[in-house]
Amino acid sequence: MIEVKENGFIELEQFKAVKKERPVNEKYPRRKTRVLNVGGVPMGGNSPISVQTMTKTKTHDIKATVDQIHRVAEVGADIVRVTVNTLEAAEAIAEIVKQTKTPIVADIHFNYTFALKSILGGVAGVRINPGNIGKRERIEKVLRAAKERGIPIRIGVNSGSLEKDILEKHGYPTDEALFESAMRHVEIAHDCGFEDIAVSVKSTSVPLMISAYRLIAERTDIPLHLGVTEAGTQRVGTIKSAIGIGTLLAEGIGDTIRVSLTDEPEKEIEVGKEILRSLGLSQRNVEIISCPTCGRLDVDLFSIVNQLEERTKHIRKPVKVSILGCAVNGPGEAADADIGIAASKGKGLLFRKGIAIRHVLEADIVDELYKEIMEFVPEEFN
Ligand code: SF4
Repeated sequence: MIEVKENGFIELEQFKAVKKERPVNEKYPRRKTRVLNVGGVPMGGNSPISVQTMTKTKTHDIKATVDQIHRVAEVGADIVRVTVNTLEAAEAIAEIVKQTKTPIVADIHFNYTFALKSILGGVAGVRINPGNIGKRERIEKVLRAAKERGIPIRIGVNSGSLEKDILEKHGYPTDEALFESAMRHVEIAHDCGFEDIAVSVKSTSVPLMISAYRLIAERTDIPLHLGVTEAGTQRVGTIKSAIGIGTLLAEGIGDTIRVSLTDEPEKEIEVGKEILRSLGLSQRNVEIISCPTCGRLDVDLFSIVNQLEERTKHIRKPVKVSILGCAVNGPGEAADADIGIAASKGKGLLFRKGIAIRHVLEADIVDELYKEIMEFVPEEFN
């Protein structure tokens, strides 16, 4: 029985024996795919699953676009896609690439000259559907330029823009319709001798995108870029993306992900990274475990957790922190975490690797946890 003393302290002795070694998260067996190189970020095979987003600035506004790329890189974007929808945008690409370190992918619909300019400008990849470029010689020009530079292309099929004949054949957007559209573009690229291809088959419907990606995964070894398109606001889009992308990742399907939100691109990266972390597929950041709170709570846990989350979102090391509102589950969760707090009556008992080390006043909990996190050296860094 755990006892909290009159002064709010929990007896340290009660937790001396809590620490136990626990197995690390099990990994999901990954589908075997070809490996692509996106500006130094490997995609496919057993490579880490990358998280990407897209800028929301006018691309020709170089300063705004570069600033946004820097901001998403700061929160952990592995790859950033930039729309190249005008001549001015195509002409800005070389300068944007020069001023940034994150691999840039040019997003192009129809205009093959924008693709050629972007490739010459140094992009790490192009999202383009060969079947939409027009004449065969134009397709060949783009694919040859990409091949010469060693950059992959992504074929991005969307349930909202399927070809008319495919829609007529299937009646409405179905998983087979999305598959057929994607493979039509893939075959054109293959005919031109181009193999470095990733594919996406996005839909606003979570069941449809899950089903379409499963078809491609069953029938090809093409690396897959996962996403629920036009997923909505942060609240709804996070849920739809977590279910759609998360279901596929849990089946070993998916090599890169993009969460699509009607919100800032930094949020897309944060949600994407959280999806990977929830499945144990990425341990690159601080993970905070916190309880929902209940009537036993005697500290302002909402504020403590929100403050710590904000302060630690830039930290790039795998540290698991548990912050629980009382001594009922606090020590147990702390045993599974690298750093833990079990709160009680305006104070908290601080744990390091499951061992209770000292008491901390409520007002100091955020600072003390932050200090511990900064000092913590993950095993893989030893
Ligand atoms: Fe309530 Fe304690 Fe559980 Fe938090 S850890 S929900 S305060 S019982």
